[in-house]
Amino acid sequence: MKLDTSPIAAIATAPGRGGIGVVRASGKSLAALIDALFPNTRLAPRHATYIPFKAADGSVIDEGLALYFKAPHSYTGEDVLELQGHGGPVVLRMLLARVLEAGVDLDLRLAEPGEFTRRAFLNDKLDLAQAEAVADLIDASTEAAAKSASQSLSGAFSQVVHRLVEQTINLRMLVEATLDFPEEEIDFLEKSNARGQLAGIVESLEHVFRQAAQGALLREGLNVVLVGQPNVGKSSLLNALAGADVAIVTPIAGTTRDKVSETIQVEGIPLNIVDTAGIRAIDEGVDVVERIGIERTWGEVGKADVILHLLDAGLGPARADEEIVAAFPPAVPVVRIWNKIDLSGHKPSVDQGPDATHIYLSAHEKIGIDLLRAELLRIAGWQQTGESLYLARERHLTALRAAREHLHLAGQHAAQDDQSLDLFAEELRLAQDQLSSITGQFTPDDLLGVIFSRFCIGK
Ligand code: GDP
Ligand code: ZN
Repeated sequence: MKLDTSPIAAIATAPGRGGIGVVRASGKSLAALIDALFPNTRLAPRHATYIPFKAADGSVIDEGLALYFKAPHSYTGEDVLELQGHGGPVVLRMLLARVLEAGVDLDLRLAEPGEFTRRAFLNDKLDLAQAEAVADLIDASTEAAAKSASQSLSGAFSQVVHRLVEQTINLRMLVEATLDFPEEEIDFLEKSNARGQLAGIVESLEHVFRQAAQGALLREGLNVVLVGQPNVGKSSLLNALAGADVAIVTPIAGTTRDKVSETIQVEGIPLNIVDTAGIRAIDEGVDVVERIGIERTWGEVGKADVILHLLDAGLGPARADEEIVAAFPPAVPVVRIWNKIDLSGHKPSVDQGPDATHIYLSAHEKIGIDLLRAELLRIAGWQQTGESLYLARERHLTALRAAREHLHLAGQHAAQDDQSLDLFAEELRLAQDQLSSITGQFTPDDLLGVIFSRFCIGK
């Protein structure tokens, strides 16, 4: 990635009205821009200067605070100028236009999405995982997600990944040093405790993976699909889980024609719940709109992390339910919910069956809803560890999994009966590449540097 150092500017605050709004500019040097905007004024770096923001003709657009951060001591690592004015959409657009006009000789242009953060990454202000955490913090939909995003942003995740990379490099260095001296290979693994070191790395990686996987759950949530016959209480259950009236509940079969989706939180984990059109056989006189709803239902079922199949506890399964069950994707866990126990007389309960978990509850009377919440958390793999979590992305988990696999293979090459040190070293290298890809510091030259710097002279 090449670094484009042409100066950029954009409105940094969210669109709409607010108490304050910020126009931000970044570039290698913004001295000329500051001169053009504020002639005869010196902005001391890192000090707020209360100042009128004037148009080219001298009329005042707004007044507010000008903040100047001199390179490299800024978010992007370049010169940064922030103008904090009033947060109205029109006044901010005027201010941005003025800034662009004042910077025309510098080729100042409008910033692309994420460009400030991209520059921060390219200038080593943030690594890749931290840059991603900036976006995740902004996007966080729950407090728990925001907390773990800021944990990643602070570099805590990058640090543990970096430690894994270093441990892997150290071990690799040992192995590669031995490769040149075949006669020493035999007892190398014993002497250096290479297997013990490898086991240590694997253990640390497992720990990081668990924290990252839990964090990823906070970010991605769980896709939950509600299916069942019309009138079994799907909409009522969604309402009970959400604690608000989001779906239409009526006693007429087939009213939920379109899917209603709602994200609710259970212990900070977003559950993306889709209430589907009631499934019934197409020949039962359904109209076109309902038919589309039915077809869409199956599309949602395919994307589910868990299927909630609702039944009326008093009536039991209908013939169509057997068709529904037969069509479920086999890998997706199913919770069979026996609803309306207030009418049937069943007690609220959970029962782990071979094909599905069975839960007896009443959506309308809100009895047994906690049993369902607990089961959803169990299926999500949520563990309350009390540890701080990293708001990892799927990309990070994929890299951690791949690294784990390479370390596993490395272990096989280090096994008693198959000592192939070159393959051992190669798997370590592959694991290292995967780990480095998380923080974006994939630089093989570094490794050579480390290896040679630790060799004795003459060896
Ligand atoms: P859907 O078609 O599957 O979405 O079902 P609804 O949620 O619209 O509910 C259909 C009817 O069943 C409504 O009149 C609900 O009030 C009623 N209902 C839902 N859950 C229960 C329950 O647990 N007990 C009783 N007695 N009625 C319920
Ligand atoms: Zn409904």
